Amino acid sequence: APAPAPSPDDALARRGAALAEVQEHYYADPPRIERGWRELLIDLDGRVYLDMVNNVAAVGHAHPRIAEAANHQLHLLNTNSRFHYGAIADYAERLAATLPDPLDTVFLVNSGSEAADLALRLAMAATGRSDIVAMREAYHGWTFASDAVSTSIADNPNALATRPAWVHTVDAANSYRGSRRGADAAAYGPEAAAHVRHLADEGVEIAGFICEAIAGNAGGIVLPDGYLAEVYAAVREVGGLAIADEVQVGLGRLGEWFWGFEQQGVVPDIVAVAKSLGAGFPLGAVVTTREIADRYRTQGYFFSSTGGSPLSSVIGSTVLEIIRDEHLQHNAQEVGARLKGRLEELGTRHPLVGTVHGAGLYLGLELVRDRETLEPATEETAAICERLRELGVIMQPTGDHQNVLKIKPPLCLSQGSADYFVDMLDRVLSTGW
Ligand code: PMP
Repeated sequence: APAPAPSPDDALARRGAALAEVQEHYYADPPRIERGWRELLIDLDGRVYLDMVNNVAAVGHAHPRIAEAANHQLHLLNTNSRFHYGAIADYAERLAATLPDPLDTVFLVNSGSEAADLALRLAMAATGRSDIVAMREAYHGWTFASDAVSTSIADNPNALATRPAWVHTVDAANSYRGSRRGADAAAYGPEAAAHVRHLADEGVEIAGFICEAIAGNAGGIVLPDGYLAEVYAAVREVGGLAIADEVQVGLGRLGEWFWGFEQQGVVPDIVAVAKSLGAGFPLGAVVTTREIADRYRTQGYFFSSTGGSPLSSVIGSTVLEIIRDEHLQHNAQEVGARLKGRLEELGTRHPLVGTVHGAGLYLGLELVRDRETLEPATEETAAICERLRELGVIMQPTGDHQNVLKIKPPLCLSQGSADYFVDMLDRVLSTGW
């Protein structure tokens, strides 16, 4: 007999019945969240949660300036980006102004996957080649090309074995866990550069190299000093282009740096951005040089109906204004530094805390069963996230071993909220999970 229809009140069962199962949601028994405010989420019963994972809502939930700007624009005009209106020029100028020269030419799309996909296609069209080198343990999106360069086994256990032939990979440059540790991590850059040159010697025509400037999906791992300088130089030497995926880490979140690649002292040829760019509204961008954009024109076609529409442009501009006016990059630096210090202090008292990755308000607390073997505390991490939820904190695991707490809250996080999170984590680590 067919399964009985879910009750109209059971939105979770209706979600399961109406959507594909691969679309996962947070927690086995998630609270039903219907409102948000700054770094807080409120469920149907009026219970308040501290949102420590939401890098999409970077300027805070339900920001009144976004609501007003969107409302105003919707009363005036929203149409496809083929029409002539001022908002798209305003926004593209403002976005390009946040990036260093020669990154001055903007494409507007609707998501991070689209941005990563277009970035790869730009590299292929501009070089007339089709092979890409990507860092392992990364996630870049679900579209055909962005998925091809995503090798995180947390999202797809067969990821490495199922890559198309045009995808080549280099080691995840993880100085805590990986083939090279501690001071030895300085070898990741030269090794990746050597691999790029070796591929070229073998006849592989490399169009580009893609990675996150800080390995977000792997847990907020800062690349070793000089890594990107070394690898970008090798990629350019063999005729390829350097692509930075800033979807997670860019736009002020790192505190000290507005863009992740600044931490490495390099300038990529192509930058992909999304998530916080639209504060939850679908908005992504690729920023590159005029020359690369022009070369794409000779081989590819680009049009996005809603990418850069009047509404998305106005929302994008408002997000940049809020980041500036509310000093959110500075807040990420101040609150993030104190938060990281307090999390590191937890490590002096709780052996399960292996290390704290990241910078600003992009941190990763890695949990291990043994600090020598680094055996990942995967089940403990899941249980700790469940327990934190009971204590009013939304937290999720990340990384290939799902043993890193991904800490990427709205950038307006207050000191009090940051302290509440550490206090609750301290309580869980002290009393069990
Ligand atoms: N790149 C990175 C680094 C990401 O983390 C993600 C999303 N998690 C994407 C690209 C894809 O973005 P979207 O979900 O907006 O398509």
